[in-house]
Amino acid sequence: MNAVTAAGLAKKFGGVTALAGVDVDLPAGSTTALLGPSGCGKTTLLRIIAGFEKPDLGTVSVGSEMITGPGIWKPAERRSIGYVAQEGALFPHLDVRRNIEFALSRQERRSGSRLAELLDLVSLESSQLQRFPHELSGGQQQRVALARALARRPGLVLLDEPFAALDAGLRSGTRDLVAAALAVEKVTTLLVTHDQQEALSFADRVVVMRDGRVVQTGTPREVYSQPANRWSAAFLGDAVELRGTVRGDRISCALGLLPLSATCPDGEVTVVLRPEQLLIDRMGDSSSDEAPVIAQVVETRYFGHDSVVGLRLAADPELRLTVRTAADVNLGPGTRVTVRVRGAATVVGP
Ligand code: ATP
Repeated sequence: MNAVTAAGLAKKFGGVTALAGVDVDLPAGSTTALLGPSGCGKTTLLRIIAGFEKPDLGTVSVGSEMITGPGIWKPAERRSIGYVAQEGALFPHLDVRRNIEFALSRQERRSGSRLAELLDLVSLESSQLQRFPHELSGGQQQRVALARALARRPGLVLLDEPFAALDAGLRSGTRDLVAAALAVEKVTTLLVTHDQQEALSFADRVVVMRDGRVVQTGTPREVYSQPANRWSAAFLGDAVELRGTVRGDRISCALGLLPLSATCPDGEVTVVLRPEQLLIDRMGDSSSDEAPVIAQVVETRYFGHDSVVGLRLAADPELRLTVRTAADVNLGPGTRVTVRVRGAATVVGP
């Protein structure tokens, strides 16, 4: 278990800037998701940490040891880093046993105890040891790849979109299993993903990247509920954007006087709320004493686990709101509702 620090990393490929000065800390034993749109530099950062790529500038340290820096280069095979690629990259001509044993010392191979431990860790049956990669499901292949990556008890595991090729059902099950295995091994982990839900549910820290830079770092709750700017707000999920005027620790906007998630100088700003922060009641059903904010339903879309209701505010018909409600809420177009806000609004721009 080691802390990893990447500082000031810059990398260009010809005229393309992949990283433009990136600082990332991975606390020992933490699971960090590196989240960003395609082409923002996630894989480049991962490959530099792994030692597959050299940066133009910057350093990488594991614990107190610098492994990449001016005049310093520790080759990938000596970095004690486990790596799981998108498609697992198992050796197709080796069965499960030999794929995992490839990473073990001769002594460990002979004793068989680490192999048994690893199988148990990733929930594979010993009856599957003789199977070849093409005889396994995608999820099983990724579990074998993880067992192989953990075999030498690395200080750091890098996961490069390891669930991307799996279909939705297999994906969440495999993800839970991998998260549990990593927690047992207490290994520092960096997961690259462009899937917001995956980043928020898998990791205990999220680093949001855009155009070769880090936009925001925080816990999943922090980055989702307090996005650093409008782009980050929209990238991390559905956002309701409102203009308003800050006075002290509150903002006056079309949905009333709302608390702010962080202090901000007085004046005109843009804030965001998440659709699940908006609560609606049919007109007349609300027990609130305050002057109600009235809106009209434009449409209700059903998603199985919830419904999303589109609203038009009575006082400002140009302003459209999106509200996430319980699945059984089925309000037809034109229904009049009152809107309340739960929690704080976050300032995302002027
Ligand atoms: P994705 O999610 O699509 O994998 P990413 O966030 O991992 O994207 P990178 O693969 O790190 O992004 O690429 C960052 C930028 O650097 C992109 O513009 C990419 O085209 C460019 N790039 C990456 N590797 C190379 C290379 N070997 N040669 C030239 N350009 C490269």
